[in-house]
Amino acid sequence: MHVYSIPLRTRFRRIDARDGVLIHGPAGWAEVSPFWDYDDVESSAWLRAAREAATQPNPPHVRDRIPVNVTVPAVDGERARAIVLASGGCTTAKVKVAEPGQSVDDEVERLEAVRDALGPGGRIRIDANGGWDVETAVARLTVLDRAAGGLEYVEQPSPTVADLAAVRRRTSVPVAADESIRRAEDPYEVKRQDAADVVVLKVQPLGGVRACLDLAADIGLPVVVSSALETSVGLAQGIALAAALPELPYACGLATAHLFTDDTVVRPLLPVGGSIAVRRPVVSPTALERTQAPDDVAQRWRARLDRLADVLDVPADERAAW
Ligand SMILES: [Mg+2]
Repeated sequence: MHVYSIPLRTRFRRIDARDGVLIHGPAGWAEVSPFWDYDDVESSAWLRAAREAATQPNPPHVRDRIPVNVTVPAVDGERARAIVLASGGCTTAKVKVAEPGQSVDDEVERLEAVRDALGPGGRIRIDANGGWDVETAVARLTVLDRAAGGLEYVEQPSPTVADLAAVRRRTSVPVAADESIRRAEDPYEVKRQDAADVVVLKVQPLGGVRACLDLAADIGLPVVVSSALETSVGLAQGIALAAALPELPYACGLATAHLFTDDTVVRPLLPVGGSIAVRRPVVSPTALERTQAPDDVAQRWRARLDRLADVLDVPADERAAW
């Protein structure tokens, strides 16, 4: 197994460097990289996903390329513009909003810059990560929809499913559920409360590609597959899910390899012409050497992985193979 630590190009999700574990099995390398604020029970889904990837081939795919969005962190307009222009031809942008310490003016500036860079034909979605209460969300969406020249949807404007349903009733901007799916005790609550137009699925937090395919079929809403800010080993499973879904009406949030300063594979999963080719990237010894985590980080991960394996009752011989 390999513990990686890779600096990010821009501070994201309030972290400056990403770390995680790659484990190995008969089907290849797989990534386990729950964020450090997730407890062991919640994080065990991430290991379940990695065990699937390490031991089973991916389900059959129905498309060879996955259209993807460029992700624009909470940066200023000039930087936002540069990120879109360097995105490998993405015509959809996901822009982070509701960042603590930033004002509505910062968000308007960022959205105007992104619209300018994409041109009138581009699509813009925003992600608030549950950062607004219902009143703020409704008021803010009017302003940001105008600044963006039309929003494709807003991802997780407010924290709870009931909030999402309330926001959805009061705005014309479609609502996507992210945290309300992947961190919820019951992801079907979104459907029951009519709280979203779109669901965001992430393979690691939801326990694997097959679990996501089942969830998508049961929930019956359009799906956007997104990354959990992973190296290309983890991203490959998101690509596999997006490739296997019967319908894929939106660009996916899988173009995140460029947020890292390095990767664990020979050829990272980066977009060309706004889409990523469906393939499983090759892990290389030199990439592993370059991305090797410092000893203290590696030790923390080994201990954590052991605890997660305990939660899932992983047999000793399987652990030894990692
Ligand atoms: Mg999100």
